Formats: sequence, C-alpha cells, structure tokens
Amino acid sequence: MPQQPAHEYLAHGQAPFFRLPCVDPADLPEGVGAVVLGAPTDAGTTYQPGARLAPWHVRRVSALVQGWHVRHGLDPFQATRAVDGGNVVFPPFDREAGRAAIEAAVAPIAARGAVPFVVGGDHSVALPALRAAARVHGPLVLVHVDAHLDTSGPETWGDAWHHGTPIRHALVEGLVADGGLWQLGVRGPWGSPEDGALGDRLRAHRVDADALAAGLSGVAREIRAEAGDRPAWITFDVDAVDPAHAPGTGTPVPGGISSRDALALLRGLAGLRLVGMDVVEVCPPLDHADLTSHLAAHLVYEGLALAAVAARR
Ligand code: MN
Ligand code: MN
Repeated sequence: MPQQPAHEYLAHGQAPFFRLPCVDPADLPEGVGAVVLGAPTDAGTTYQPGARLAPWHVRRVSALVQGWHVRHGLDPFQATRAVDGGNVVFPPFDREAGRAAIEAAVAPIAARGAVPFVVGGDHSVALPALRAAARVHGPLVLVHVDAHLDTSGPETWGDAWHHGTPIRHALVEGLVADGGLWQLGVRGPWGSPEDGALGDRLRAHRVDADALAAGLSGVAREIRAEAGDRPAWITFDVDAVDPAHAPGTGTPVPGGISSRDALALLRGLAGLRLVGMDVVEVCPPLDHADLTSHLAAHLVYEGLALAAVAARR
C-alpha cells in the first residue's frame, strides 16, 4: 500500500499519518505489518497539559515525510505495508478508560504479528500498549528513551497512574525481560537517592544523557548485542531530547541529546526485533514551528524502518 502522492493530501486537508491508507485496526487487511495509532490523552500529565493534541499535529507534519530510507536502503511504508489505524477513542480525561481502550486497540495488532506504533498522549499510554504486546510476545526488551526514570510510585502525587509511573508498572507486572530495561537520556535531579533503586534491583541499564551523547553508536551496538533475537519495544519520550530541539513537551529538562542524536540512536538499533513503539509527550500548545511534531514524525519513521529491517532478515 503506497503513500498517497504529496499533492493528494493538499486536496484533502488533514492527512493520515505519513499519507498512509486508513484502516480499522480491529479488521486489518492481509499483509499489513505496521499500524500507526493516535492515543490522544494528557490525563496523566503532572505539569503542563496539551499532549492530547499531538496525534493531529504529528499527522499534519508527517505528510512531509517521504518513503525512501537512504541508510537502510528500503521504503519502510511499502516494506511493512503500514497503515493509519486512527485514534483510539475514549474520554481523554478518563485514565482507566484510556488504558482499557489502548490495550484493546493494540492487542489485535500484536496478535496478528503486525507492529503497533502508538503516538501519544502523555507517557501513561505506554503501559497498556506494553501489556498488550507482552501478552503476545512475552516479557520484552524495553528501550526507554527519556529525561526521566518514570519509575515513580504513588508517594510523589498520591496517585500511581500518572505519566511518571509507566515503567514502574511495566517492571512490577513482569512485562520487561530480566535485565532487559535500557533507560537512555536520563538526567537532572532526582527526588531522592532511592529513585533508581527499583531499576538497579532489576538490573536495568541506565545511560544518562551525557554518556549517551558521547557514545551513541556503542550504546546502540550493546543494546543490539544484548537483545539478540528477543522481542523489543521502544518507548520514546520526546523530553529525552533537549528542549532547544524539542520545545513542545510538558515537563522539559535542560541538557538533553540533540534531535540528530535521537535519530542516529534509532538508526543504530537496526537489527533489533522491534515488536512495537510509542512516541509520547509531544505537547503542541508549547511547541514552536512544529519542531517537536516534526521530530516525533521522524522518530516514528525510523521505528517503521527498524520494523522493516527486522522483517528483511
Ligand atoms: Mn520524560
Ligand atoms: Mn516519560
């Protein structure tokens, strides 16, 4: 299924993700290998809201992304026969309904052996997607790119289900393979010296933003080697990227990696058996010149390329 020609989206106004065909994810046509979904909620946001609008903005700018991946030598849209599965529908302020709906939307995609790509939404959308994927594939290698650890418990806000907690739940629920968590790009002060304790106990790999920027290709190589042929999910919080490169996000932290580093990291993961990805925390109301939406579109494009490379092996 090819992309629409560029002139066609001009005729239609709002374009699907990457000008791809729109399908119902519960009724996938034969051969579809990747489905891009929007998950429009920011009900898990602890600071500035607005991420619920990201699927629309990322769709709009993703119309500019062309198909041919020069580095990998393939067209990820054609290779995966990718489609736009629409937005998951639920009241954007109801977190429990959101988790149920996202899990229900991702489950049939994973069950068909296709690769789901979830465009948030705040980071709390990752948990139900991971639940659905782990139910099909078993415990996952989880590449978590973020300024934050996202392993908070209820002590901080008196609530266990906000966007700072999905990685804790994923670990506690056994969705992540033993030693399979990679936290990349983390930085900034913690609430207490114990913030990293859960990850440490579960042999998580933590590469802070300085180390990641200094040793990008080595980190990617190490992840590939350790992951081997195990199923892997990438959960990409755009606040891993420096606010100068990705200003449209609700909880920015100075000192992040560049957008070029972010894309290079994903290219360096070619060979990973990607079974899903989410790109979260794009907050269009805080963005400038759509910089963060453009970045998110290219992150998803690189993820689709990883799925295509994995299918080629
Ligand atoms: Mn974050
Ligand atoms: Mn996060």
